[in-house]
Amino acid sequence: MRQRLVRGWWAAAFAAALAVPLWLSIGVGGHENVLLRLAVEFGLLGTSALAATVVLPARMRSLTRALGIEKVLGGHRYLGMMTVTLVLAHVVFVVVGNPANLARLDLLHAPPAGRAATLATGAMVLIVALTVLRRRLRTGYKWWRRVHRGLAAAALVLTALHVWWLNHMIRDAAMRAWFVGLATAVLLCAAYRWVLRPLLHGRAEFVVLGIRPESPTVSTLVLEPRRARHSWGYRPVAYAPGQFAWIRLHRWALFPEEHPFTIASAARPGRVEFTVSHIGAFTTALRELEPGRSVWLDGPHGTFSVDHLRTSGLVLVAGGVGITPMMSMLRTLADRGDRRPHRLIVAARHVEDLLFRDELAAIAARIPLTVTEVLSRPPEGWQGATGRITPQLLDALLPGAFRRNQLDYFICGSTAMVEGTREAITALDVPAHRIHTEQFQMV
Ligand SMILES: Cc1cc2nc3c(=O)[nH]c(=O)nc-3n(C[C@H](O)[C@H](O)[C@H](O)COP(=O)(O)OP(=O)(O)OC[C@H]3O[C@@H](n4cnc5c(N)ncnc54)[C@H](O)[C@@H]3O)c2cc1C
Repeated sequence: MRQRLVRGWWAAAFAAALAVPLWLSIGVGGHENVLLRLAVEFGLLGTSALAATVVLPARMRSLTRALGIEKVLGGHRYLGMMTVTLVLAHVVFVVVGNPANLARLDLLHAPPAGRAATLATGAMVLIVALTVLRRRLRTGYKWWRRVHRGLAAAALVLTALHVWWLNHMIRDAAMRAWFVGLATAVLLCAAYRWVLRPLLHGRAEFVVLGIRPESPTVSTLVLEPRRARHSWGYRPVAYAPGQFAWIRLHRWALFPEEHPFTIASAARPGRVEFTVSHIGAFTTALRELEPGRSVWLDGPHGTFSVDHLRTSGLVLVAGGVGITPMMSMLRTLADRGDRRPHRLIVAARHVEDLLFRDELAAIAARIPLTVTEVLSRPPEGWQGATGRITPQLLDALLPGAFRRNQLDYFICGSTAMVEGTREAITALDVPAHRIHTEQFQMV
């Protein structure tokens, strides 16, 4: 209920951010030419959409808790595309409305307002192109993220300069107040994201207790709050099973490197565990951490949790290390002595990639849990399920149509696995609101 309310507030705030400048612009005179009038309206919409795009990923907990990280990032991507479309429409109407305006696109001879606008538009188009082509260009995530942020900052500053140098929009007092408000909101979000959060979360310091190998490529990082319980500054991480946190290796840096990981342990105060697949530089560095070393957590975030809904049972579908939120949920449900029937379907390539097999058998002895393992490259003599997760496989594993609709489905893993499984579950006529997903690839 509260989540729905917060979601409603944010939706209203974003809708207002788009609608208010249009309404205010009615009072601003000028342009009898309809095409140039349209150019102004598209420009205003584009500016507001740009501000909203920046605000979304500022990691405000009320947003990530109400929407979940997937929707927040999906919204960020959607608003980003919308911004570029609106800005391009603005440019087209400026030129079509008065072909002499083509000269404003000339970076060498155009007045400052025109130059700022052209550079801002170029930065926005480049952001979209690099994001769409990142995988094809085989660009590292770290490099991409730095360029993405740099271009976004440039687009914001140049857009502000364009509005300022154009002058006619800010001559009207109401419009000026609107632009100042918009700029303040963006600056506050940036300050919160880059200054306030790292400062506040300097206190969310955890000490490494040890690293537990789970397989040759996966291990579990065991952490405990640095400060002793009852001492000043002690901050237990109160989290719902399935939520995640950003891990940082340094207390404070201007642009600290942080990566998201699901808290895999049961939702109990004190010790927290993260199970990590070592695929790149950061995840490999985590494996090398010495006991006693500090790390910093920003979290919990996300809505991928059984605790956020009322359900008669869970169907958890995990691909590879996507089992971490499922482990947190199952460990917590086992602690609580949950009596609802649950099913876990684990998809992996090889039998060696199946994680926590012994622990899952132990949990299945404590609560009504059925575990199904599905291998895409099974060894000789494998008796279990094979191939991909298809509607046929799910049909054979799940109860009849009526009961299926009363269960909640959690899917976690790579984008391809999540989307494939979502389609398979949807093909069984399960309502969309019962399907919850978390993808481990952000871009
Ligand atoms: C909500 C969420 C929960 C996750 N939980 C787990 C978990 O429990 N266990 C686990 O092993 N992995 C988890 N991941 C994935 C993990 O964040 C990435 O594997 C890790 O960041 C890779 O970093 P790297 O430098 O080792 O590899 P790289 O080679 O640099 O990155 C590999 C891929 O990981 C993603 N990635 C890299 N850096 C970041 C970043 N800073 N923020 C977001 N995504 C990034 C990108 O898609 C990139 O292509 C989770 C991801 C998300 C979004």
